[in-house]
Amino acid sequence: MSVLAASGAGRLCAVRAVLPCLWRGKYFSSGNEPAENNPVTPMLRHLMYKIKSTGPITVAEYMKEVLTNPAKGYYVNRDMLGEKGDFITSPEISQIFGELLGIWFISEWIATGKNAAFQLVELGPGRGTLLGDILRVFSQLASVLKNCDISIHLVEVSQKLSEIQALTLTEEKVLLERNAGSPVYMKGVTKSGIPISWYRDLQDVPKEYSFYLAHEFFDVLPVHKFQKTPRGWREVLIDIDPQVSDKLRFVLAPCATPAEAFIQELSQRISLTGGAALIADYGHDGTKTDTFRGFCGHRLHDVLIAPGTADLTADVDFSYLRRMSQGKVASLGPIKQQTFLRNMGIDVRLKVLLDKADEPSLRQQLLQGYDMLMNPTKMGERFNFFALIPHQRLHGRNHQMNACQSKPSPSPVAGFGELVWR
Ligand code: SAH
Repeated sequence: MSVLAASGAGRLCAVRAVLPCLWRGKYFSSGNEPAENNPVTPMLRHLMYKIKSTGPITVAEYMKEVLTNPAKGYYVNRDMLGEKGDFITSPEISQIFGELLGIWFISEWIATGKNAAFQLVELGPGRGTLLGDILRVFSQLASVLKNCDISIHLVEVSQKLSEIQALTLTEEKVLLERNAGSPVYMKGVTKSGIPISWYRDLQDVPKEYSFYLAHEFFDVLPVHKFQKTPRGWREVLIDIDPQVSDKLRFVLAPCATPAEAFIQELSQRISLTGGAALIADYGHDGTKTDTFRGFCGHRLHDVLIAPGTADLTADVDFSYLRRMSQGKVASLGPIKQQTFLRNMGIDVRLKVLLDKADEPSLRQQLLQGYDMLMNPTKMGERFNFFALIPHQRLHGRNHQMNACQSKPSPSPVAGFGELVWR
């Protein structure tokens, strides 16, 4: 545990948005909430044109268009996070969250034989806040990581957010790659001197020894929606409402999903090159069905109204992710965020920060952030952690074993058991 106290030296804490923001994991939407207004957004016009020409679309296609359409998608042109945005996430609430995840990666790197190099790959990094906190821990523990060649790889579709990430994380001007053949669309160097590159797809990230991070990412990947009818299961589609002009509605129609493709790619990579993936999201272990909902300005939003102005999300079904990994890798969890952070030593870290904070407002902010992350009625139980690791990791035969390590003994994977710092 001494590492948690040791890493108290750097920046104490930045004031982050706390209450009264809403996190996305709390509510469910049937898509039938009363529509206060239904502005005809450019996205709605685009979807109506599409449906008129080729017929009703699946919920997955709807989510994909609304969220990531390169010209009009919700994620592409705005900063939707934080107090002034539509929802808030754990790393935006408390620096401790990212710090503990930073320790998780270092702990796994040590437990798997201190590979000479690793890539840290983050899927959907938002504002870059989480990675910033992780990199600060890496800097504070530079003596532990010395001689390890680290590079950062971000998978992000949003132009706007990638610019914010570059501002948060890099000091040097970030170059836009003009070479159209390159899958890297931006690159630079982080404030602590680590090379960092941006990609639109995980497939483009070099297949090297990597640690992967996906926080509130899988929930925005398009899902198909099905409904049981007396005639069996039918897929739910989105069509134009014939009764009301400029309005969409759900209909039933007489599956491979993007989440499946992502998880299979991750599993294949980890089984091939080693490393680990840490997936944190709100979700369940196969116990829920319809969780498709929208958020705008911290309020629940009808998923079919004013498409393009609100975030759309669905709970992650971890049992599905486990099935889709097809036994290529071992999985741990899902376990509740509260348990994971406690195992990672959040209480020790909070104490260190409280002892060092002399302003009452900072202390209050730290305590509020802790409560938001840990309280079972807030994010503590709704959010889960899930990891994919090579099978060898559990049996003590590391894929990339350190030459000096003659007798490997597997240490428990931090967070899923108590953190053991060797
Ligand atoms: N991890 C961050 C942000 C979560 S919001 C946090 O916890 O604060 C979801 C993020 O995923 C955003 O950065 C969004 O732009 C990105 N995103 C959404 N769909 C994507 C896709 N298909 N491929 C890559 N990134 C995507």
